[in-house]
Amino acid sequence: MRKISERLKNARISEGFCTICGEFGRLSKDHVPPRCAINIQPMLQKTISEYYSSEEIKPINAHHGSIFKTICRDCNNNILGSLDSEIKKPIEYFLGKLRIYLSGSCYSNIIKVPFNSNLFLKAMVGHLLAATSVESCKNELTESEFYTPLRKFVLGQNEDIKLTHDFYYWFYPNKLQITSQLASFYNDGNFCLCCCMHFFPIAFLITLKERGTYPAQATKLELDDKNLYFNMSPINFKYANFPFVPLYGNQMMLFSSGYTCVSYPRIK
Ligand SMILES: [Zn+2]
Repeated sequence: MRKISERLKNARISEGFCTICGEFGRLSKDHVPPRCAINIQPMLQKTISEYYSSEEIKPINAHHGSIFKTICRDCNNNILGSLDSEIKKPIEYFLGKLRIYLSGSCYSNIIKVPFNSNLFLKAMVGHLLAATSVESCKNELTESEFYTPLRKFVLGQNEDIKLTHDFYYWFYPNKLQITSQLASFYNDGNFCLCCCMHFFPIAFLITLKERGTYPAQATKLELDDKNLYFNMSPINFKYANFPFVPLYGNQMMLFSSGYTCVSYPRIK
């Protein structure tokens, strides 16, 4: 019998510790990528190691898109729900500009997208915190140099997130949706901890401040930015899945497969 993806156990939880506020209670379902930013369609899911493995592993059917049951109803409805339009508006604007760009009537390789930086960032970080393994919900949250400031930022208790973290984004041209909690990427002397979320048309990466590794086309997000700037040059598309890219020279990476998720359309 074919082995089934370990993502299966992620659907089988009803109570646990919320990965944003840390309260214990009933867990609710969050779409990651957020449902406001994509067309919900039946997807198949695996962990990233299973997806790239040569072993045949049966994926999970995700009938209503990519869902994570890792946050409480309060965080889901009152925090993330109220912020979803801050992702929806710039994504829709970007898709409109992308259509014009692909029609060949643009002379610049940069697409500029107006947005509310603080609210967009809170929404993206919140959904990314939710995109984890249910293992994270089984024990009380512990203090973490990487996660505690991010959780407090989403909860509105830490407006100084730029003191501890950097955020990068770039144009993501692929159908494959990827989420990953802490991955470690070693590049020629620099050791980078990161978590990421990739869905068409954007890839989003969180790193510790001034310790990040990121692809050449990435733009750093600042809290006082008025626009997102996407570098559309196709020369760097091969690194669009960063950090899940082929390794060269003195590069290594380490991640926990159960904390990653790859979703792809059932009908290709
Ligand atoms: Zn919560």
